Amino acid sequence: MFNFEDRNMLVTGGSRGIGAAIVKLFSQAGANVAFNYNKNYRAASDLAKLCSAYSGKIFFDECDVSDYQETQHFIDKVIKEYGSVDTLINNAGIWEYGKIDEMKVDEWRKTIQINLDSVYYFSNYIIRHMKDKKIKGHIVNISSTAGQRGEAFYSHYAATKGAIISFTKSLASELGPDGIHVNCVAPGWVITDMSETTLKKDQDKILSQIPLGFIANPKDIAGPVAFLVSDYARAITGEILNVNCGNVLCG
Ligand code: NAP
Repeated sequence: MFNFEDRNMLVTGGSRGIGAAIVKLFSQAGANVAFNYNKNYRAASDLAKLCSAYSGKIFFDECDVSDYQETQHFIDKVIKEYGSVDTLINNAGIWEYGKIDEMKVDEWRKTIQINLDSVYYFSNYIIRHMKDKKIKGHIVNISSTAGQRGEAFYSHYAATKGAIISFTKSLASELGPDGIHVNCVAPGWVITDMSETTLKKDQDKILSQIPLGFIANPKDIAGPVAFLVSDYARAITGEILNVNCGNVLCG
C-alpha cells in the first residue's frame, strides 16, 4: 500500500513492540530504515535479519535514548550510513508503576529522560539536519491515551505523553514553513512486552471499556504511522491521531 523507496527513516526503540512493527512496515515499503535498541541485541538483530530480505537497507545500533552523547553519536552514524534522514519516529519509551507519594526523584527523572528528553534530543538534531539539507521531512511522535486523560499510578509517564502532544503541535506550526510535517499517534492499549502483564491480569475489565471489543496489536499502530509519513497525509500536520479502538475519544 505504501511506497517508501528512496526514503531514509529512523525509528527509536525499534527492537520490539510498536517500534519493531514500524521498522518492518517501512522496510516492506522499500525504505532504508535505521533503528536503535537499548539492551535487547537479540531482538534487534533478529528484526534486522528479517528486514534484510526487503529491497531497502537496514541499520541498527545500541543507543540509550536518555543519553545525549549517545543519541548524537547514533544519529551521526545513521547519517553517515544513508547520507540523510527524512523521517523520524520518536517511539522509544518505558511505562513504570509509581505512586506519586512514594516515587523517588530517580524514578521520576528516569521516565522523563527516556520518554521526553529523548524526543528533544532526536528532534533537535534531525530537524537541524533537515533544515540544512532542505529536506521536507516527517516526524511522528508516539504519545498515549495517558497523555490525553492522565493515568493513575503512572503520573510521570502521563506527564511525558501529554508534553509530547504539546511539543508536536508547537513544532507543527514552527516547521510548517520549512515543509516539515510533525504529527503524533496516541495509542491506547497495545499488546506488547510493555503491557503484557497488565493486559493478562485485567483483560476483562480493560476489554469492557473498549467499544471495538479488541486490543490493538503493534501492526495496528504501524499502519497509521506509515499513513502520516506518506504522501496521502501531505495536508496533515499537528494532528494527534487516536489509535485506541474507541477507548478514549477526544478531538
Ligand atoms: P516495548 O515493547 O516495551 O518496547 C520498547 C522499545 O523501546 C524497545 O525497543 C526498547 O529497547 C526501547 N527502549 C526502552 N528504553 C530505552 C532506552 N533507554 N533507550 C533506547 N531504547 C529504549 O514498548 P511498546 O509497547 O512497543 O511501546 C512503544 C511506544 O508506544 C512507547 O513510547 C509507549 O509509551 C507507547 N505506547 C505503548 C502502549 C502499549 O499499550 N503498549 C500504549 C500507548 C503508548 P530494548 O528492546 O533494547 O529494550
